[in-house]
Amino acid sequence: MVFMRWPDGNPRCPYCDATKLTWLAKDGRYRCYGDHKPQKFSLKVGTVFEDSAIGLEKWLPAAWLICNAKNGISSYEIHRALGVTQKTAWFMMHRIRLAMVSKSFMKMGGSDSGPVEVDEAYLGGEPKNRHKSKRKLATVTPDYPWATERKVYPHQGRGTEKIAVFGMLDREARKVRAEIIPNVKREALMDAILRNVEKGATVYSDSFPTYKALPGLEFVHEAVNHVDEYVRGEVHTNGIENFWSLLKRGLKGTYVSVEPFHLDRYIAEQVFRFNNRATKDNPLDDSDRFMLAMSQIVGKRLTYAELTGKVGETETN
Ligand SMILES: [Zn+2]
Repeated sequence: MVFMRWPDGNPRCPYCDATKLTWLAKDGRYRCYGDHKPQKFSLKVGTVFEDSAIGLEKWLPAAWLICNAKNGISSYEIHRALGVTQKTAWFMMHRIRLAMVSKSFMKMGGSDSGPVEVDEAYLGGEPKNRHKSKRKLATVTPDYPWATERKVYPHQGRGTEKIAVFGMLDREARKVRAEIIPNVKREALMDAILRNVEKGATVYSDSFPTYKALPGLEFVHEAVNHVDEYVRGEVHTNGIENFWSLLKRGLKGTYVSVEPFHLDRYIAEQVFRFNNRATKDNPLDDSDRFMLAMSQIVGKRLTYAELTGKVGETETN
């Protein structure tokens, strides 16, 4: 853990960056001599694990499981595997997802990249037009302990309306980005593309008319018409669609419905696994993915109040 936080192996004070520290073995903490309070700190201070009574012997295996579960993992599985309560497991998972978020300032489709596939998707619920009588009433116990059991139509109710998500895949770099967007109108889609894709890049999309604005914004645009052609040589969006199916499978199988408030972290979790999956050129394994997430634990925090100020999700299992 010391080497994961400080790659040179020298612990530094999270408050003043001093390296002159004493290890208090009985306390399991370091002591700094700098002029600040508190002077003692644990390895967890300044990371996503800060303020948590849960020991690293639970945090680290939980992170390993989440980084490597192809279709996601439920808080019930973490609860059973690690012997923490389900409430604790749910909270741990959201914090670990925060460590899985990586933001790049580099735009996609630049000089070293390939064409960029773009596509929009709706996530987080069932279509509203599905007739109520065709659904069965079910009893669910939401995945947060302060909620009571209730009768619901599956995929119905608060927070289960569809949420628009925009995805982009750099085909050469094999990296995907996905973000929640307010709607799929031209302004929102073009804004996401302009923020993430280099001007001049080649953009592949389906024939959704909105994308016709791309050449006017200095992009090279090719569209594939899914009605009469699925793939026209290089022009297709199969890569980003593959990402959507992985994301939807994870959301459906593991998480019955997700509050919009939490959806961005679920997306980040799947983006992390997708971008760090093993390929011929880049044979990453479970341990590599774990180490990568752990290298991103610093400087991110998510408090219990932040998480529970808005209510959580419902899970199966
Ligand atoms: Zn200090």
